[in-house]
Amino acid sequence: MSRFAQRRDKIRRNLSKRNVDALLVTDFTNVAYLTGFTGDDSYLLVTKDRDYVVSDQRYTTQLGEECSDLELSIRGPGKKMLPFVSRLLTKLKIGQLAVEAQSMTIAFHAALAEAAKNCELVPVSGWVEKLRMIKDKDEIARTRVACDQARRAFEVVRATLTPEMTELQVAADLEYQARRFGGIGMSFPPIVAVGARSALPHASPTTQKIGADDFTLIDWGVNEGLYVSDLTRILVTGKISPKLRKVYGVVLKAQLAAIKAIRPGVTCEAVDHVARSIISKAGYGKRFGHGLGHGTGLDIHEGPRLSQGQSTVLAAGMIVTVEPGIYLPGWGGVRIEDDILVTRTGHEVLTSVPKELEACLVG
Ligand code: ZN
Ligand code: ZN
Repeated sequence: MSRFAQRRDKIRRNLSKRNVDALLVTDFTNVAYLTGFTGDDSYLLVTKDRDYVVSDQRYTTQLGEECSDLELSIRGPGKKMLPFVSRLLTKLKIGQLAVEAQSMTIAFHAALAEAAKNCELVPVSGWVEKLRMIKDKDEIARTRVACDQARRAFEVVRATLTPEMTELQVAADLEYQARRFGGIGMSFPPIVAVGARSALPHASPTTQKIGADDFTLIDWGVNEGLYVSDLTRILVTGKISPKLRKVYGVVLKAQLAAIKAIRPGVTCEAVDHVARSIISKAGYGKRFGHGLGHGTGLDIHEGPRLSQGQSTVLAAGMIVTVEPGIYLPGWGGVRIEDDILVTRTGHEVLTSVPKELEACLVG
């Protein structure tokens, strides 16, 4: 049985528990996770005994290659998706249909309810997302590739960095190198923020020159094809000021301590607390205004979330970022981010870009 079929079987077990006849998967990322099909505009219907991909003729060949074990329900040109889905539901005598509440718009829900009049729609949440939190061997291997591509792209950009380059040029170079090393693109538009601009946790690159201040924050990741990586490093292009040394030291200490705390059985909020208490004790508690980290996978942000109030328990196979930061308006921000795999006995750091402050000195 393929790993995709195994995933669908796990979803199937929810059907009788929730007393529904089928789940209609309309989130394209969830469809990819459950089928291996990487195109879009396609739904997956998981019933008690069979699974159907509802797609159109553009994808017939790709579907045959990527998920030959599935029943295909291909609509012809000019045939609208929802009436087509409705006919399939009627044919299969689906009365109670679970739908993905988290990703469905109100408009889509109304249109589906109108098209599938004989079905009762039952909103369910997180069925697929919960499975996606635990990565299998293949997903972990792909994430390793994404981490490695991110490292290699960064190394080239770092080696060719000049004070005259702008934030935008550095971001463009990162993306170009990521593709040269085999990635299909970035995990998200990279953040390249010089000096004071790095105090904005989500700064977009501008025409600011790298040489305009002592340091630059770079937050980037690569999509290897399906799975993504996510890192943040500081590059020191000027001198290491006492303030930078102090702030950087606190963030690094918090990050290393939080990574050390990662193992199965520990709650997400406990890991967040390890980093947060170190930053608070140093007097910067109010300057760490975001959660400690997030899961990565097919999406850049997925479960679990490492933050306050998150009681989810870490389990082997989860991949999370650990990214504490201190942001001082007018001066700048320091964030250090790595991707961590939860293993049976503890954890493994998947990203390997050096992060001791001296190692961040350029030139
Ligand atoms: Zn990041
Ligand atoms: Zn992140």
